[in-house]
Amino acid sequence: MEAALDIKERNPFIATKGKQKVSLRCDADSISGCVSQRACVYCGARVVLNPVTDAAHLVHGPIGCSSYTWDIRGSLSSGDDLYRNSFSTELQEHDVIFGGEPKLSRAIDEIVAKYQPKLFFVYSTCIVGVIGDDLEAVCKRSAQKHGITIIPVQSSGFIGNKSAGYRAACDALLRLITPEQPLPRKANSVNYLGDFNLAGEAWIIRNYLTEIGVSVNSVFTGDSNFDSLREATAGSLNIMQCAGSMTYLATKMQDEFQIPYLRVSFLGMEDTADSLRKIADYFGDPAMLARAEMLIARETEATSPIIAAYRGHFNGKKAAVYVGGGFKAISLIKQFREIGIEVVLIGTQTGRPDEYDTINDLVNDGTVILDDANPAELERFMTQQGADLLVGGVKERPLAYKLGIAFIDHNHDRKHPLSGYIGAVNFAKEVYSTLCSPVWNYIYDWGGENRG
Ligand code: SF4
Repeated sequence: MEAALDIKERNPFIATKGKQKVSLRCDADSISGCVSQRACVYCGARVVLNPVTDAAHLVHGPIGCSSYTWDIRGSLSSGDDLYRNSFSTELQEHDVIFGGEPKLSRAIDEIVAKYQPKLFFVYSTCIVGVIGDDLEAVCKRSAQKHGITIIPVQSSGFIGNKSAGYRAACDALLRLITPEQPLPRKANSVNYLGDFNLAGEAWIIRNYLTEIGVSVNSVFTGDSNFDSLREATAGSLNIMQCAGSMTYLATKMQDEFQIPYLRVSFLGMEDTADSLRKIADYFGDPAMLARAEMLIARETEATSPIIAAYRGHFNGKKAAVYVGGGFKAISLIKQFREIGIEVVLIGTQTGRPDEYDTINDLVNDGTVILDDANPAELERFMTQQGADLLVGGVKERPLAYKLGIAFIDHNHDRKHPLSGYIGAVNFAKEVYSTLCSPVWNYIYDWGGENRG
C-alpha cells in the first residue's frame, strides 16, 4: 500500500485490489503498538457462550471484565433468562496477592443457593492468568459438591486474540456435548452453528428450515440451553453461519462424531437462497428441494420490489465494511451489490486466508482490503476512498460519526434481525435511513462544503 503508514509492520496486512496480488497477512497476533479494534480473548469466548440461556455466566476477575453482559448482546430466549445476569467474583487487591480460588468457590455456592443453575461457565480473565488460580480444580470440586456441570473457560485476555476466545468457547462446548454413549442420528436434522439469535435471527432460519422439511436439532448457541446442547451429537449435519467462531467446533464434531458440516450464510437474498438450496441438495431429497425453491420464489417475489425501491436512492454511494469474521464480510459485499452500493474498503478482525482470497475475487479494482485494522487506518482509508457509510460494530460507531459518515451496526447490540429475507429488507431500510437522513444537510466537510 503506497499510502504512508506510520507503522511499517502493518504493511503486509493491507492491500489494494488490482495493485498487487493479494497475499494478505492475517490470522496473526496484533502488532505491538497498534490499537487493535479486536476484542480480547475473554470477550471472544463470552460472545459465543453468553446466549446459552439457562447457564450462570460467572466471570472470575475484576468487575470491569464482567461489564460485557447481555445488554450489549441482545440474544433472545424462548424460555430461561438466567443468561441475562452477569456474575463476577470481583477480584480485588487482597485476592490478587493471596489468590482468588476461595472467592470463586464461595461465588459458585452463592449462585447455586440463589438460582440453582444446571450449568456454569466460569470465565478466566487476564488477572486470573497472571496469579495462576487453578480454575479447573475449583470447578471440578464445586461440580462434585453441587452435582451440576461447571465448565471452566480458559479465556485470559492476554493469551492471544479474539480467535483464541472463540476456540476456548468451542472447547467448553465440546466438554458439554460429548456424550458417554453415541446418540442415534435424527434424519434430516441439522445443528445450526454460529447464530446467536440476535433479535430472533435463529428463529427466522428455523422457520425456513422447518418449511422445507429440515428439523433444527441444536443451535450454537442462540436460544440454546443445557438440554438442547447435550443433544447436539444426534444432528445429522452441521450448518455454520459464523465461520470465525464455529469452524473449530464444526471440525472437531466432524472428526469426533462424524457429523459433516456446510458453510452457509443467511445474509442477503442471494446467500439465503444459495444456502437453502445447498442444505436441500445435501439431503438429496427432491421434495425438499422443491419446497426450498417454492420458499425462495415466494420470498424473492415479496422482497425484490422493496429492495428495488430503496436501491433507487443509493446511486453512486460507497460503503466501507469492518466486521469480525471473513464470511460475514463476503456476504456483505454481495448484499451491498443487491442494493446497488459499491464496497470500497473491507476488513475483518479474524478473517482467514481463504476468506481474503474470496473477498479479493469479489471486490472491484481499487478496493482497500485490510486485516486487524486500527482506528487510524480505518479513518485514513475511509477518507481516501470516499466512503459514505461504514458497517461495523460498537467500537466503529463513534469513528463513523466523528468523520461525519453514516453508520450501520452489524454487531451485537442491534435490536432488529439482519438474517433471511426479513433481514434483507431491514438492511436496505437501515442503509436508507442512515445514508439518506436529513442530518447530513447540517454536516460540512473540512473544506466547508455542505454534505446534504
Ligand atoms: S483484556 Fe483482560 S482485563 Fe481486559 S476485559 Fe479482557 S480479560 Fe478483562
